[in-house]
Amino acid sequence: MKAQQPKNVWHERLRYFDVRQDALLNTIRELVEIESPSDNKPAADRIGGFLAGMFEAIGGRARLHRAEEFGDNLQIEFAGRENVKPVLLLGHFDTVYPLGTLANMPCHVADGRLYGPGALDMKSGIALMLYAIEALKAWHKGLPRPVTVFLVSDEEVGSNSSRKITESLAKESAGVLVLEPAAGLRGAVKTARKGVGEYILTVRGVAAHAGLEPGKGHSAIVELARQITVLAKLNDRESGISVNSGIIRGGTRTNVVAAEATAEIDVRIKNAKQAIMLDRRLRSLKPFDKRCTLSMEGGINRMPMERTTGVAALYQKAVAVAKQMEWKLEEAAVGGGSDGNFTAGMGVPTLDGLGGVGSGAHAVHEHIVIGELPRRALLLAGLIETV
Ligand SMILES: [Zn+2]
Repeated sequence: MKAQQPKNVWHERLRYFDVRQDALLNTIRELVEIESPSDNKPAADRIGGFLAGMFEAIGGRARLHRAEEFGDNLQIEFAGRENVKPVLLLGHFDTVYPLGTLANMPCHVADGRLYGPGALDMKSGIALMLYAIEALKAWHKGLPRPVTVFLVSDEEVGSNSSRKITESLAKESAGVLVLEPAAGLRGAVKTARKGVGEYILTVRGVAAHAGLEPGKGHSAIVELARQITVLAKLNDRESGISVNSGIIRGGTRTNVVAAEATAEIDVRIKNAKQAIMLDRRLRSLKPFDKRCTLSMEGGINRMPMERTTGVAALYQKAVAVAKQMEWKLEEAAVGGGSDGNFTAGMGVPTLDGLGGVGSGAHAVHEHIVIGELPRRALLLAGLIETV
């Protein structure tokens, strides 16, 4: 949208965020200290309300989309001076950490890093949105274009309550910037993500007394064991397909031939063709023991985010912004899915991994690198201008 500004402007802009690094850090800390597990609606609603207030304080108009099972999803609209399509900033405020985690995993700073549950995934990303929007308003005396922020309450558990809203907002937008964590400590953005599916295979056999009439039984466990070896063979590292039978259950007692057994399966695929092929394969498994029956439930939850020309073009814009800061921005393809998969799947240019830099997402050592915050904020601000 804007022609490139002379270099010293970008140095000044970077200094603007350098000066605000501590404030930005405090905002992240504040957000981390409001625990917000996906499966606790009151807790999720608490942070949703808090964030609505923060975005309204910088001039946004907040709107809560009611959700019954999960926290209400939060949409914030910012008006812009130019009458162009808005850019959508996408994120989530739920975390994988149950209430009380802070007691054992307190938010703290050490060695230039901020530790705490959700610091990386993705409360730092939300704080970056706040500061980037505020900066653009200061630099342009009002936002140069409309910006829509959408913060989801159930991303970590599949985004069932928010997906439709995400998709309808994306459709209205010129591009989608996803504030999920960067890939690796060099801060690469994500231009491809694998698709994710979850399946449950249930085997029903025929129960029998294991001592008195073993010949009459048809073990669901033996059948499941054989099916699991079939599933394991579907793994194809080279083409990016993974199939993991992560949880198995079955049987009732040692002296009973098991009547039922189940496997919960996580699958990852790199493109839409693989998703269709794999789904078909999983649903057409045949029992080895004809007296056993198989049923497969579940499906692909997030289609892969593929590196389309729209995605590649958006990445090039990010590279150009980073270059103004003498920063060679890298790109990465990753195994995990995000809500960016939905929007990229609709053909809307999407760039992911624009949030904090750090490591340990979902783990006890989750943290961000504090010194990376200023240029992440500037990258986001520059992209909002140029998408
Ligand atoms: Zn996330």
